[in-house]
Amino acid sequence: MRLSSEAFALRLRRAGLLIDTGVAGVFAGGSGFEAIVSGIDRAVSALGAGQQIEVVRFGPTMNRSDFERSGYLHNFPHLSATLFGFAGDQGAHRDLIDRLEHDGEWTARLMATDLVATPAACYPVYPMLARRGVLPDAGTVLDVASYCFRNEPSDDVTRWRTFRMHEFVFVGEPEAAVAFRTGWLARAEHMLESLQLPVSIVPANDPFFGRAAPLLRQQQLDDVLKLEAVIPVHTSNDGTACASFNLHRDHFCRVWGLSVRPGVIAHSACVGFGLERLALALLAEHGLSVSSWPSGVRELLLL
Ligand code: ATP
Ligand code: ZN
Repeated sequence: MRLSSEAFALRLRRAGLLIDTGVAGVFAGGSGFEAIVSGIDRAVSALGAGQQIEVVRFGPTMNRSDFERSGYLHNFPHLSATLFGFAGDQGAHRDLIDRLEHDGEWTARLMATDLVATPAACYPVYPMLARRGVLPDAGTVLDVASYCFRNEPSDDVTRWRTFRMHEFVFVGEPEAAVAFRTGWLARAEHMLESLQLPVSIVPANDPFFGRAAPLLRQQQLDDVLKLEAVIPVHTSNDGTACASFNLHRDHFCRVWGLSVRPGVIAHSACVGFGLERLALALLAEHGLSVSSWPSGVRELLLL
Protein backbone atom coordinates (compact mmCIF):
# COMPACT_ATOMS: atom_id res chain seq x y z
CA MET A 1 0.00 0.00 0.00
CA ARG A 2 1.37 3.43 -0.97
CA LEU A 3 1.66 6.10 1.76
CA SER A 4 1.53 9.88 1.56
CA SER A 5 4.88 11.52 0.79
CA GLU A 6 5.15 12.63 4.42
CA ALA A 7 4.36 9.20 5.91
CA PHE A 8 6.72 7.45 3.46
CA ALA A 9 9.52 9.92 4.30
CA LEU A 10 8.99 9.28 8.02
CA ARG A 11 9.27 5.51 7.54
CA LEU A 12 12.41 5.90 5.44
CA ARG A 13 13.98 8.06 8.14
CA ARG A 14 13.01 5.70 10.94
CA ALA A 15 14.53 2.79 9.01
CA GLY A 16 17.81 4.75 8.60
CA LEU A 17 17.44 4.69 4.82
CA LEU A 18 17.27 8.49 4.51
CA ILE A 19 18.88 11.01 6.82
CA ASP A 20 17.71 14.62 7.06
CA THR A 21 20.15 17.45 6.58
CA GLY A 22 17.93 20.22 7.95
CA VAL A 23 17.18 21.76 4.53
CA ALA A 24 14.30 20.90 2.22
CA GLY A 25 15.13 18.52 -0.62
CA VAL A 26 18.61 17.49 0.53
CA PHE A 27 18.97 14.06 2.06
CA ALA A 28 21.82 11.74 2.86
CA GLY A 29 21.42 8.05 2.17
CA GLY A 30 22.02 5.41 4.85
CA SER A 31 23.94 2.24 3.90
CA GLY A 32 20.78 0.35 2.89
CA PHE A 33 19.66 3.15 0.59
CA GLU A 34 23.11 3.55 -0.94
CA ALA A 35 23.33 -0.19 -1.64
CA ILE A 36 20.11 0.07 -3.67
CA VAL A 37 21.38 3.17 -5.51
CA SER A 38 24.63 1.34 -6.39
CA GLY A 39 22.63 -1.66 -7.61
CA ILE A 40 20.53 0.56 -9.90
CA ASP A 41 23.62 2.40 -11.14
CA ARG A 42 25.25 -0.92 -12.08
CA ALA A 43 22.07 -2.21 -13.75
CA VAL A 44 21.83 1.00 -15.79
CA SER A 45 25.51 0.67 -16.84
CA ALA A 46 24.85 -2.94 -17.84
CA LEU A 47 22.20 -1.75 -20.33
CA GLY A 48 25.00 -0.25 -22.41
CA ALA A 49 27.51 -3.09 -22.02
CA GLY A 50 29.28 -4.28 -25.18
CA GLN A 51 27.99 -1.41 -27.32
CA GLN A 52 31.15 0.68 -27.69
CA ILE A 53 29.81 3.40 -25.46
CA GLU A 54 32.28 5.85 -24.01
CA VAL A 55 31.99 6.14 -20.22
CA VAL A 56 32.62 9.57 -18.65
CA ARG A 57 32.02 10.61 -15.06
CA PHE A 58 31.69 14.31 -14.29
CA GLY A 59 31.79 15.99 -10.90
CA PRO A 60 28.83 17.93 -9.48
CA THR A 61 29.95 21.24 -11.04
CA MET A 62 30.57 22.43 -14.58
CA ASN A 63 32.30 25.22 -16.45
CA ARG A 64 30.24 28.40 -15.97
CA SER A 65 30.86 29.74 -19.48
CA ASP A 66 29.74 26.39 -20.99
CA PHE A 67 26.62 26.59 -18.85
CA GLU A 68 25.96 30.18 -19.98
CA ARG A 69 26.16 29.08 -23.63
CA SER A 70 23.86 26.07 -23.06
CA GLY A 71 20.72 28.21 -22.74
CA TYR A 72 19.80 26.90 -19.29
CA LEU A 73 19.49 30.40 -17.83
CA HIS A 74 17.04 31.36 -20.57
CA ASN A 75 14.74 28.44 -19.89
CA PHE A 76 15.24 27.40 -16.26
CA PRO A 77 16.75 30.30 -14.25
CA HIS A 78 14.65 29.29 -11.22
CA LEU A 79 16.39 25.89 -10.98
CA SER A 80 19.94 27.10 -11.54
CA ALA A 81 22.70 27.66 -9.02
CA THR A 82 26.10 29.30 -9.32
CA LEU A 83 29.08 28.74 -7.05
CA PHE A 84 30.41 31.77 -5.23
CA GLY A 85 33.64 31.98 -3.26
CA PHE A 86 35.65 34.44 -1.20
CA ALA A 87 38.43 36.19 -3.08
CA GLY A 88 39.10 39.34 -1.03
CA ASP A 89 42.01 40.74 1.00
CA GLN A 90 42.37 40.78 4.79
CA GLY A 91 40.14 43.82 5.14
CA ALA A 92 37.39 42.14 3.13
CA HIS A 93 37.85 39.05 5.29
CA ARG A 94 37.37 41.11 8.47
CA ASP A 95 34.21 42.53 6.94
CA LEU A 96 33.01 39.03 6.01
CA ILE A 97 33.49 37.75 9.57
CA ASP A 98 31.87 40.87 10.99
CA ARG A 99 28.80 40.31 8.82
CA LEU A 100 28.78 36.59 9.68
CA GLU A 101 28.78 37.36 13.39
CA HIS A 102 26.39 40.32 13.33
CA ASP A 103 23.74 40.48 10.61
CA GLY A 104 24.44 37.12 8.94
CA GLU A 105 24.66 38.80 5.49
CA TRP A 106 28.17 37.49 4.78
CA THR A 107 27.33 36.08 1.34
CA ALA A 108 27.19 39.62 -0.06
CA ARG A 109 31.02 39.59 0.21
CA LEU A 110 31.44 36.63 -2.17
CA MET A 111 32.30 36.63 -5.87
CA ALA A 112 30.99 34.31 -8.58
CA THR A 113 33.54 31.60 -9.43
CA ASP A 114 33.93 30.02 -12.87
CA LEU A 115 31.74 27.08 -11.80
CA VAL A 116 28.03 26.33 -11.63
CA ALA A 117 26.14 23.35 -10.21
CA THR A 118 25.49 20.82 -13.00
CA PRO A 119 21.74 20.81 -13.77
CA ALA A 120 21.65 17.52 -15.74
CA ALA A 121 24.36 14.95 -16.34
CA CYS A 122 24.46 15.52 -20.11
CA TYR A 123 25.12 19.30 -20.01
CA PRO A 124 28.94 19.01 -19.90
CA VAL A 125 28.96 16.43 -22.74
CA TYR A 126 28.27 18.76 -25.68
CA PRO A 127 31.07 21.25 -24.92
CA MET A 128 33.37 18.27 -24.26
CA LEU A 129 32.60 16.91 -27.76
CA ALA A 130 32.98 20.37 -29.30
CA ARG A 131 36.49 20.69 -27.79
CA ARG A 132 37.37 17.33 -29.29
CA GLY A 133 36.39 18.37 -32.81
CA VAL A 134 35.06 16.04 -35.51
CA LEU A 135 32.32 13.55 -34.60
CA PRO A 136 32.63 9.93 -35.75
CA ASP A 137 30.51 9.20 -38.88
CA ALA A 138 28.15 6.88 -37.03
CA GLY A 139 27.61 9.46 -34.30
CA THR A 140 28.67 8.96 -30.74
CA VAL A 141 27.07 7.45 -27.62
CA LEU A 142 28.24 8.26 -24.12
CA ASP A 143 27.39 6.84 -20.71
CA VAL A 144 27.59 9.77 -18.28
CA ALA A 145 26.61 10.32 -14.68
CA SER A 146 26.94 13.00 -12.06
CA TYR A 147 25.39 14.59 -9.07
CA CYS A 148 22.98 17.22 -10.34
CA PHE A 149 21.55 20.25 -8.60
CA ARG A 150 18.21 21.96 -9.14
CA ASN A 151 17.03 24.59 -6.77
CA GLU A 152 13.53 23.23 -6.26
CA PRO A 153 13.00 22.86 -2.49
CA SER A 154 9.93 20.74 -1.86
CA ASP A 155 8.16 18.63 0.75
CA ASP A 156 7.88 15.84 -1.81
CA VAL A 157 10.28 13.09 -0.76
CA THR A 158 10.94 12.32 -4.44
CA ARG A 159 11.92 15.90 -5.36
CA TRP A 160 15.51 16.49 -4.30
CA ARG A 161 17.82 19.42 -4.91
CA THR A 162 20.99 17.32 -5.01
CA PHE A 163 20.50 14.00 -6.77
CA ARG A 164 22.28 11.56 -9.05
CA MET A 165 21.47 11.16 -12.72
CA HIS A 166 22.85 8.42 -15.00
CA GLU A 167 22.37 9.10 -18.69
CA PHE A 168 23.08 7.73 -22.15
CA VAL A 169 23.59 10.51 -24.68
CA PHE A 170 23.61 10.31 -28.47
CA VAL A 171 25.00 12.90 -30.89
CA GLY A 172 24.84 12.25 -34.63
CA GLU A 173 22.45 12.04 -37.61
CA PRO A 174 18.90 13.35 -36.95
CA GLU A 175 17.13 10.06 -37.79
CA ALA A 176 19.64 8.13 -35.72
CA ALA A 177 18.82 10.34 -32.70
CA VAL A 178 15.15 9.36 -32.99
CA ALA A 179 16.08 5.67 -33.38
CA PHE A 180 18.39 5.96 -30.35
CA ARG A 181 15.53 7.19 -28.18
CA THR A 182 13.14 4.48 -29.42
CA GLY A 183 15.69 1.73 -28.76
CA TRP A 184 16.61 3.01 -25.32
CA LEU A 185 13.00 3.49 -24.34
CA ALA A 186 12.39 -0.23 -25.00
CA ARG A 187 15.56 -1.21 -23.14
CA ALA A 188 14.68 0.95 -20.11
CA GLU A 189 11.08 -0.27 -20.05
CA HIS A 190 12.32 -3.85 -20.05
CA MET A 191 14.68 -3.12 -17.15
CA LEU A 192 11.94 -1.41 -15.10
CA GLU A 193 9.56 -4.30 -15.75
CA SER A 194 12.29 -6.76 -14.68
CA LEU A 195 12.52 -4.75 -11.46
CA GLN A 196 8.78 -5.43 -11.14
CA LEU A 197 7.92 -1.73 -11.03
CA PRO A 198 4.49 -0.55 -12.25
CA VAL A 199 5.72 1.85 -14.93
CA SER A 200 3.79 4.00 -17.43
CA ILE A 201 5.48 5.82 -20.30
CA VAL A 202 3.88 9.23 -20.75
CA PRO A 203 4.58 12.38 -22.80
CA ALA A 204 5.93 15.15 -20.58
CA ASN A 205 7.38 18.63 -20.64
CA ASP A 206 10.05 20.58 -18.82
CA PRO A 207 9.29 23.30 -16.24
CA PHE A 208 10.16 26.27 -18.50
CA PHE A 209 10.23 29.71 -16.87
CA GLY A 210 8.55 32.95 -17.87
CA ARG A 211 6.07 34.21 -20.41
CA ALA A 212 7.07 31.84 -23.20
CA ALA A 213 6.72 28.81 -20.87
CA PRO A 214 3.18 27.71 -21.85
CA LEU A 215 4.12 27.78 -25.53
CA LEU A 216 7.38 25.90 -25.02
CA ARG A 217 5.67 23.30 -22.83
CA GLN A 218 2.92 22.74 -25.38
CA GLN A 219 5.42 22.48 -28.22
CA GLN A 220 7.38 19.85 -26.30
CA LEU A 221 4.19 17.84 -25.81
CA ASP A 222 2.96 18.28 -29.39
CA ASP A 223 6.28 17.18 -30.86
CA VAL A 224 6.73 14.39 -28.25
CA LEU A 225 10.21 15.60 -27.43
CA LYS A 226 10.09 14.24 -23.87
CA LEU A 227 8.76 10.94 -22.58
CA GLU A 228 8.90 9.93 -18.94
CA ALA A 229 8.79 6.62 -17.12
CA VAL A 230 6.35 7.40 -14.33
CA ILE A 231 6.02 5.14 -11.29
CA PRO A 232 3.66 5.57 -8.31
CA VAL A 233 5.89 6.14 -5.26
CA HIS A 234 3.49 7.83 -2.84
CA THR A 235 -0.10 9.05 -2.86
CA SER A 236 0.70 12.78 -2.76
CA ASN A 237 1.16 13.03 -6.55
CA ASP A 238 -0.01 11.17 -9.66
CA GLY A 239 3.29 9.35 -10.03
CA THR A 240 6.98 10.20 -10.06
CA ALA A 241 9.12 10.56 -13.18
CA CYS A 242 11.98 8.11 -12.60
CA ALA A 243 13.57 8.26 -16.06
CA SER A 244 13.18 10.46 -19.11
CA PHE A 245 13.74 10.00 -22.85
CA ASN A 246 14.52 13.25 -24.60
CA LEU A 247 14.99 14.53 -28.14
CA HIS A 248 16.84 17.86 -28.23
CA ARG A 249 16.75 18.14 -32.02
CA ASP A 250 19.65 20.48 -32.95
CA HIS A 251 19.42 22.66 -29.79
CA PHE A 252 22.73 21.68 -28.16
CA CYS A 253 24.55 20.78 -31.38
CA ARG A 254 23.79 24.19 -32.92
CA VAL A 255 25.07 25.96 -29.80
CA TRP A 256 28.25 23.89 -29.83
CA GLY A 257 28.77 23.71 -33.61
CA LEU A 258 28.57 19.91 -33.70
CA SER A 259 28.07 18.73 -37.30
CA VAL A 260 27.61 15.27 -38.75
CA ARG A 261 28.77 16.31 -42.20
CA PRO A 262 29.98 19.65 -43.53
CA GLY A 263 27.04 22.02 -43.25
CA VAL A 264 24.73 19.55 -41.46
CA ILE A 265 24.17 20.23 -37.76
CA ALA A 266 23.95 17.05 -35.65
CA HIS A 267 20.99 16.19 -33.44
CA SER A 268 21.19 14.90 -29.88
CA ALA A 269 19.05 12.74 -27.64
CA CYS A 270 19.43 11.55 -24.06
CA VAL A 271 17.96 8.98 -21.73
CA GLY A 272 18.28 9.86 -18.04
CA PHE A 273 17.71 7.66 -15.00
CA GLY A 274 17.16 9.30 -11.60
CA LEU A 275 18.98 7.01 -9.17
CA GLU A 276 17.36 8.17 -5.92
CA ARG A 277 13.88 8.20 -7.44
CA LEU A 278 14.33 4.63 -8.72
CA ALA A 279 15.53 3.55 -5.26
CA LEU A 280 12.46 5.17 -3.70
CA ALA A 281 10.19 3.51 -6.29
CA LEU A 282 11.67 0.09 -5.42
CA LEU A 283 11.24 0.71 -1.68
CA ALA A 284 7.63 1.82 -2.20
CA GLU A 285 6.84 -1.20 -4.37
CA HIS A 286 8.72 -4.00 -2.61
CA GLY A 287 8.91 -2.72 0.98
CA LEU A 288 11.65 -1.35 3.19
CA SER A 289 13.28 -4.70 3.89
CA VAL A 290 15.45 -5.62 0.91
CA SER A 291 15.86 -9.20 2.15
CA SER A 292 12.16 -9.80 1.44
CA TRP A 293 12.19 -8.34 -2.09
CA PRO A 294 11.49 -10.73 -5.01
CA SER A 295 14.62 -12.77 -5.72
CA GLY A 296 14.70 -11.74 -9.42
CA VAL A 297 14.84 -8.08 -8.42
CA ARG A 298 17.62 -8.69 -5.88
CA GLU A 299 19.62 -10.68 -8.43
CA LEU A 300 19.34 -7.94 -11.05
CA LEU A 301 20.61 -5.37 -8.54
CA LEU A 302 23.19 -7.72 -7.00
CA LEU A 303 21.61 -7.12 -3.57
P1 ATP B 1 10.23 16.35 -13.02
O1 ATP B 1 9.26 16.27 -14.17
O2 ATP B 1 9.85 15.45 -11.88
O3 ATP B 1 10.56 17.75 -12.57
P2 ATP B 1 12.35 16.37 -14.90
O4 ATP B 1 11.49 16.21 -16.09
O5 ATP B 1 12.79 17.74 -14.60
O6 ATP B 1 11.62 15.74 -13.59
P3 ATP B 1 14.66 15.33 -16.18
O7 ATP B 1 15.21 16.67 -16.42
O8 ATP B 1 14.08 14.60 -17.33
O9 ATP B 1 13.58 15.40 -15.01
O10 ATP B 1 15.75 14.47 -15.43
C1 ATP B 1 15.97 13.07 -15.64
C2 ATP B 1 15.64 12.27 -14.40
O11 ATP B 1 16.32 12.82 -13.26
C3 ATP B 1 14.17 12.32 -14.00
O12 ATP B 1 13.39 11.38 -14.73
C4 ATP B 1 14.25 11.96 -12.53
O13 ATP B 1 14.34 10.56 -12.35
C5 ATP B 1 15.54 12.62 -12.09
N1 ATP B 1 15.24 13.89 -11.44
C6 ATP B 1 14.95 15.08 -12.04
N2 ATP B 1 14.69 16.02 -11.13
C7 ATP B 1 14.83 15.42 -9.91
C8 ATP B 1 14.69 15.88 -8.56
N3 ATP B 1 14.38 17.14 -8.28
N4 ATP B 1 14.89 14.97 -7.57
C9 ATP B 1 15.22 13.69 -7.84
N5 ATP B 1 15.37 13.22 -9.09
C10 ATP B 1 15.18 14.06 -10.11
ZN1 ZN C 1 20.16 14.78 -20.78
